[in-house]
Formats: sequence, structure tokens, C-alpha cells
Amino acid sequence: MSKVTTFYENVERSFDKAATYTRFPEGLLEQIKLCNSVYKMKFPVKTGGSDVKVIEAYRVQHSHHRMPTKGGIRYSIHVSQDEVMALAALMTYKCAIVDVPFGGAKGGIKISPRNTSPALLEKITRRYTAELIKKNFIGPGTDVPAPDYGTGEREMAWILDTYLTLKPSEVEGYGCVTGKPVSLNGIRGRTEATGRGVVYGLNEIVSYKDDMEALGLSTGLDGKRIVVQGLGNVGFHAANIITEYGAKVIGVAELEGAIYCEEGLNVKKLLKYRKTNGSIIGFPGSKKVKGENAGLEIDCDILIPAALESQITMKNAHKIKAKIIAEAANGPITPNAEEVLLKKGVMIIPDIYINAGGVTVSYFEWLKNLSHVRFGRMNKRFEEYTQSNMLDVIEKSTNKNISKRERSSVVRGASEIDLVNSGLEDTMIEAYQTIREAKRKNKITDLRTAAFYVSIVKIADAYGSMGIFP
Ligand code: NAD
Repeated sequence: MSKVTTFYENVERSFDKAATYTRFPEGLLEQIKLCNSVYKMKFPVKTGGSDVKVIEAYRVQHSHHRMPTKGGIRYSIHVSQDEVMALAALMTYKCAIVDVPFGGAKGGIKISPRNTSPALLEKITRRYTAELIKKNFIGPGTDVPAPDYGTGEREMAWILDTYLTLKPSEVEGYGCVTGKPVSLNGIRGRTEATGRGVVYGLNEIVSYKDDMEALGLSTGLDGKRIVVQGLGNVGFHAANIITEYGAKVIGVAELEGAIYCEEGLNVKKLLKYRKTNGSIIGFPGSKKVKGENAGLEIDCDILIPAALESQITMKNAHKIKAKIIAEAANGPITPNAEEVLLKKGVMIIPDIYINAGGVTVSYFEWLKNLSHVRFGRMNKRFEEYTQSNMLDVIEKSTNKNISKRERSSVVRGASEIDLVNSGLEDTMIEAYQTIREAKRKNKITDLRTAAFYVSIVKIADAYGSMGIFP
């Protein structure tokens, strides 16, 4: 029987496999691979009356080769040092793949957000932020958190407010955290960025005829049958946006079980239904899928695990029927399970590429905060005037009238959301092309190894420029 490895060990295993395709010295590879700083903290919070609860929390900065470091904060009862180290390491490789100039980091608080009152969550978040400030583990130039599992805009707003309260005169203070509400200098499109990035990535991936033919699939997302695990931030937006490309979400798995509908589920209505009823089971027009964690085993073209790590293991890998698995979650497939899937001919799109949309748009938000101006503010109207003038010239020189409708379809200056989405789409397309080319050139057999290879080369290059590596 194969040994059960930890999440961090799994990440190291992927790294080591990719490192064999490089010729970098051992010491340099070790420097890239290991976590630079691990901060484990315990702090008390009053839970009401005279009760005090001791909270366990972490912040890990995996790599300082680029500063600041960047990575989400997770609230979950399963948070551990190993998990946060693994997630921080993935952030380093992810940032390198999408050319976001940050080192990787991650934070975690060992609490159940579902079973903790908002008032207590706020207290814990503010205290955690104060602990990070004390140790210089947060700041626009040092380490910039963002949302992850169990956190969102609300928590980022508490972090920002605590930071600005303790550092009121820091002019770049708003850049200490991303994923903030737009009303607090967040950026439009950040909430859905990871899910949207998954769809932009998939749209590019399924456009290659040879790759799709090898899987027995046609090109394009139109008509593809999708199953999503986890209807949270990433899963919901990926499921919702992919239907705009003509794909059908035929199955959804959540904590309470999985549902199926061959005609396609309306995920917006499904999310509402879950909010009202506390479960996806019983959603009109759907059938409950029998068996524990059986949602992952539904026959489909693309499976999108968007919940947590280690969901596809040696226990269920042989039962997976999907042709493509897009790792929207971090680490959803264990390395042994991956071997089984690859042997079956499944195409696995690795987390360090496919869920990088969140950090990409976080980077845009950080740039917005440092420049103190919304994207598009300076040029939107100017672009519109220029386009309009051009149409006037065309009208005059051709002696043909351009209708109001035609005019309004051409005259359009880019707004913040337009620029964010086009920057994200370009990033996801370019990154995939780089990974695919590295796979081909180096005769690498799987996309995860190719993605790690690309990251290692880029990070080694940064060390090389610092003179650490000749
Ligand atoms: P979230 O808390 O918003 O949603 C997670 C959802 O998964 C919840 O609805 C939860 O009930 C569900 N879930 C948990 N365990 C499950 C199980 N066993 N089966 C089915 N459903 C289950 O979290 P999120 O922000 O969407 O993050 C999901 C994953 O994506 C995590 O691995 C996270 O690290 C990764 N990720 C998130 C972001 C981001 O921007 N939020 C960016 C990159 C990667």
C-alpha cells in the first residue's frame, strides 16, 4: 500500500518531478522549494461572559524572491501548519506562472466560519491582523493577504480597517490587503476573478484540436458537460460564467450531497435555493446522486473541483469519468490519484495555473491602490471622443451615414471592469500557451509538471538576476 503523504509533501513531490527537467544546482532548487518564514501564533479572544478561547493561526511566507509576498487567508477547522505551508508554496509557483511579481504566502485561522458568530469572527480577524502587524507580516510592501476558503470581502474589510487604524498615516495603506469591497478601494471583478479565470483558461485549453481529439472531444466550450464540486466563491462563479460560453452544468456537489440534471442546472437559482433551504438537495428538476462524494464520479466532459484539497484520492480516482479535470481548488488531487488518472488518459489542468485568476486580479487591485486611481478613469472618455471623431471622418469621406446603433457599438472607452477582464483573459491565455509549449519542448507528459517547470525556470531566473545563481 502506498504511504499517505501530507499536502505539503505532495507539493514538494510535484516540484521535485519538474526539477528533474532542469539543470539548476541542488542548492538553488532547495532555496526555491523551501518555506522562508513560518509564523505560528496563538492568541486569546473573549467569547462572551468570562469565557476565553485560544485561537491557533498561521501566516507563511514561502518565497521572498519577489516582494511583497501574496496569498489568501483561510478560515477552516482543518487549518494546520502543513496545509498553510503547502498553500503558500503553491502561491509562489502560481504567481510565477502568471507573471505576477510577488512571492507566495498564505494564512490560516483554525476556526469554523459556519459555527462562529459574525461578531466573534470580526474580533478574531482584527486580532489576527494586529498580530501580523506586530511581526511585520502584513503591509503593501511586505505581505498582502486576500480571500480564500471561508473568507471574502467582509473579512478583507476588517483587515484593512484594523491596519489603517494602527498605521493611519501610511499613504499606500489600502494596498495591505486585496479582495476588499469596491467601496473600500477594492477592484471591480475581483470577487469572480478566480472562477472567471478558470473559464478563460478552459476556453483556451479546449481550443486545441489535437488535444481535444486525443480526449475524444470537440473543440470549444459550447455543449460541454460540466460538473462542479463546491458552490462557494470559486465554484459558483466558474459554473455561472461557463454557461455564458454554451456549456451545461449537469452536476453540482456540496457538503450535503450532489445533484444531477442532464439538461443543465441554473446555478444562480441553485445558489438562491441553497441559501433558503440550507441544501442543494431537492432543487427542482434535479436528481440526488447516490453515494458518498459521488458527485465527483458523474460522467462529464469537464470536472471542476472547487472545494478543498485531497478530494480525489486512491479511494475514488478509478471511478472518475471526467475527460478533463480543472483544479479550481488548491490540491484537490493527490499525487497517487493523479498517476491513476493520467494512466486513464484524463487531462489534468493544475491548480497553479487554472486558479491563478484570483491573484492576477488581486495584483491589479494592488496596482490600483498604489496609484490611487481607478483603471480607465483617465482615458475612457478620451478614447470615446477619438473613436467618435474617426467615425465622423469615415462618414464624411465615404458619404455614408453611420447609424446611432452602429456608432454606439464602436464608440466605447474601456471601464475598470473591461480592463480587469481583458487583462485577466490575456494572462490566462498567455500562461497556458507557455505551459503547453514547455510541455512539448521538454517532452513532459503532464501539464502539472510542465507548469511547475515553467515556474522553477522563472524563479531561478530571478535569483540569477540577483547574482545568487550564475
Ligand atoms: P468558499 O468557502 O467560498 O467555498 C467553498 C465551498 O466548498 C463551500 O460552499 C463549501 O460548503 C464547499 N465544500 C467544502 N467541502 C466540500 C466537499 N467535501 N464537497 C463539496 N463541497 C464542499 O471557498 P473558495 O474561496 O471558493 O475556495 C475554494 C477553493 O479554491 C480552495 O481550495 C481555495 O484555496 C481555492 N482558491 C480560492 C481562491 C479565491 O479567490 N477565493 C483563489 C484561488 C484558489
